[in-house]
Amino acid sequence: MRLVILGGGESGVGTAILGKKKGYDVFVSDLGKIKGNYKEVLIINEIAWEEEKHTEDLILNADVVMKSPGIPDKSPMIKKLLAKGVSVLSEIEFAAPFTDATIIGITGSNGKTTTTMLTHHLLKSAGLNVGVGGNIGKSFAWQVAENKYDSYVLELSSFQLDGIMNFKPHIAIITNISPDHLDRYDYKYENYIDSKFRITMNQTEDDYLIYDADDEAITEWFKTHTTKAKLIPFSLTKTFSEGAYIKNNKMEISINQEEFTMDTAHIALEGKHNMKNAMAATSVAKLMQIRKATIRESLSNFQGVEHRLEKVLKILNVQYINDSKATNVNATFFALDSMNTPTVWIVGGVDKGNDYNELMSLVREKVKAIICLGVDNKKIIDVFGNVVDMMIEVSTMNDAVRMAQRLSEKGDTVLLSPACASFDLFENYEDRGNQFKQAVKNL
Ligand code: ADP
Repeated sequence: MRLVILGGGESGVGTAILGKKKGYDVFVSDLGKIKGNYKEVLIINEIAWEEEKHTEDLILNADVVMKSPGIPDKSPMIKKLLAKGVSVLSEIEFAAPFTDATIIGITGSNGKTTTTMLTHHLLKSAGLNVGVGGNIGKSFAWQVAENKYDSYVLELSSFQLDGIMNFKPHIAIITNISPDHLDRYDYKYENYIDSKFRITMNQTEDDYLIYDADDEAITEWFKTHTTKAKLIPFSLTKTFSEGAYIKNNKMEISINQEEFTMDTAHIALEGKHNMKNAMAATSVAKLMQIRKATIRESLSNFQGVEHRLEKVLKILNVQYINDSKATNVNATFFALDSMNTPTVWIVGGVDKGNDYNELMSLVREKVKAIICLGVDNKKIIDVFGNVVDMMIEVSTMNDAVRMAQRLSEKGDTVLLSPACASFDLFENYEDRGNQFKQAVKNL
C-alpha cells in the first residue's frame, strides 16, 4: 500500500513514522521547505521525501493520502487526487485504527488548548497512562507509533475534523463556536459550524458529547440536528439534572447520578470562560471515574497555559497580563470580562473581519486607555476613538509596554489581548507574547 503524505510538518512526519512501522510504502511531499529536524527523522527512518515541489507521478499513484491540516481542499493536488477517487485523510483518521486507547477529542473556536491541557492534567494527576496531542505538542500519529498510552486527550481543529470518515472520540468536547477561518469555508459560517460538529458524527449511544449550552451557534445546531452520543451540557446561567453549571459561586456537576461540587474560588484558572473550560474538563474526569479529592486538588493547582491570560509580573502594583493567544474578538471579550481593575488594553494586528462593537460595553466599563499595536489600526480607532480618553498607536512591543506603564497607575492592569493575528509585526502569537513578557521584565 502506498501512503503519500502532503506536508512534512509535525502531523506529516508523525504519520510517516506510523505508516512506515505498519508496512506502508511511504512518500512525503512538501511544497515548502521541510524543517531540518523533521528531515533528519525522515532520513534516519529511511522514508522517501521531497521538498519545494509536488511531483505528480510520485503522488497520484497513492492508495491513500494524508494531508496536513494546513493544506486546503481547494489546492490543485488535492483536487486531482479526489478526482481520481483517492481517499484523502487527516492524521487522526489515519492513526486512530492503530490504537485501542480511549480517545477524548476537544474542538471549538476558543479554549481548545486550555481545556486539553487541563483535562490532561486531571487525568494524569490521577495516575492514568494518558497522552496529549493533536493540534498541540507531539502529533497523535507519532505517539501511536512510539508510545503505549491507554488514553489520549486530543486537541482537534476543524481542519483535522474535515479529514475524518470513521474517527470517533469516546468523549467529545465542543468548547464554543464563533466565526473563525471562514476563508477555508467559502465564507459560510454554517460550513464552519458543521465542521466542528463532525467530532460527534460517528459517536454512538456509548459515547459522550460535552458542549457549551450558552453558545448560540451550538444551541441553534441542535434545533435541526441530532447525535447518538449522550449529551452533557455546561452553562454559566442554566442548571441541569445531567450536566455542569455554576450556581452561587460553586461548580456543580451531575453525571450518571453522581454529584461533584467545588467552590469556584478554589479553581486556579480565573475568568468566566475558564469556568467553562473547567466544567468541560471536570466532566471528562467524572466520566473517567477520577476520585473527587484528586479532581479538586488538580483544579486548584493547574498552572494555566502560556500566552492565555498569563500573569507576567506586578510592577509598582500594576498587573501585566499576556493574552497574546487572543486572536479573535470572542477570546478578547472573555479577557476584558475577567478584568476587575481599570485596564490599559494593548490591541491590534491582522484582523480577520472583526466586529469590535461586541466589545463596546466592556471597553466603556473597564478600559482607561487603548494602545494600538498593529500596522493598520484604523478600524480600532474608528470604533473606540470617542469611547476611551487615551488612545495611542505604536509599532513595537517595547513602545507598547513603555506607553502602557506611563498610562497606568497603582491598582491597574495592563492587558495584551490583541483580538487579531500577529503576523504584521511578529512571527506568530508566541513571538508576540514572548516579546511582551521580555519588555515587561525590562521595565
Ligand atoms: P484555542 O486552542 O482554541 O485557540 P486557547 O485555550 O489557546 O484556545 O485560548 C485562546 C484564547 O481564547 C485565549 O486568549 C484564552 O484566554 C481565550 N479563551 C480560553 N478559553 C475560552 C473560552 N472557553 N471561551 C472564550 N475564550 C476563551
